[in-house]
Amino acid sequence: MTNIVLFGKPGAGKGTQAEFLKTRYNLTHISTGDVFRYNLKNETALGKEAKEYMDRGDLVPDELTIKMLQDEVEKHPDTNGFLFDGFPRTIAQAEALDRFLESKGWKVNATIALEADDEVLVQRLLERGKTSGRKDDQDENLIRNRYVEYNEKTAPLMDYYQNQYKFYAVNGIGSIAEITERLSLVIDKIN
Ligand code: ADP
Repeated sequence: MTNIVLFGKPGAGKGTQAEFLKTRYNLTHISTGDVFRYNLKNETALGKEAKEYMDRGDLVPDELTIKMLQDEVEKHPDTNGFLFDGFPRTIAQAEALDRFLESKGWKVNATIALEADDEVLVQRLLERGKTSGRKDDQDENLIRNRYVEYNEKTAPLMDYYQNQYKFYAVNGIGSIAEITERLSLVIDKIN
C-alpha cells in the first residue's frame, strides 16, 4: 500500500501529473476538486453546500471535505494505494487523514510538492479557464483569492509533513513528461 499526497498551488499541475502517475504506479486517484465539481454538476446535497465556497474561491469547510474524502476512500478497499490530489489542504484535514489511514493500518508514505512561481501559475489558470469552463479559472480575483487561501491554510502543511520526514519537492516548470520523471524518481525512492 503506497499513499501519496500531491501537493502544490492551484495550477501547479497536480491533476495532469496524477493522470500519468496513477497508471504508472497503479494507484487510485482522488481529486477533491473533481469530486466537488461532479457533485455541483449533479446538484447533490453536498454540491449545494460546497457551491458558495467554490464560487468564491474559498476552501470548502473541513468537516464536509473530510467526510467526502473518507467516502471516496471507502469505495476502493482493494486498491494498491491512493494518489491524493487537492487533499489535505488544511492542518485539520491532514490530521484527519492521518487518523483515518491509521485506523486501516495505512499511512501517508510521501507528500510531493510541485513548485512554481505564482505569476506563472496565474497565467496558466487564466489559459485553462478559456477552455475548462471553470468559473474559478476565469476571474483573476478568484484565482488570487485561491492563493490567499493556499498561503494561509495550505502552506503550513509543508512543515507538518517535513516534521514527519515525508515532504519532497520537485520543480514544476518543464515539459509534462519531464515533470512526471521528476515525480517518479521520488516515488521510486520511497517504494
Ligand atoms: P485548484 O487546485 O486549481 O484550486 P481544485 O480543483 O483542486 O482546484 O479545487 C477547486 C475548489 O474546490 C477549491 O477552490 C475549493 O473550493 C474546493 N476544494 C478542493 N479541495 C478542497 C479541500 N481539500 N478542502 C477544501 N476545499 C477544497
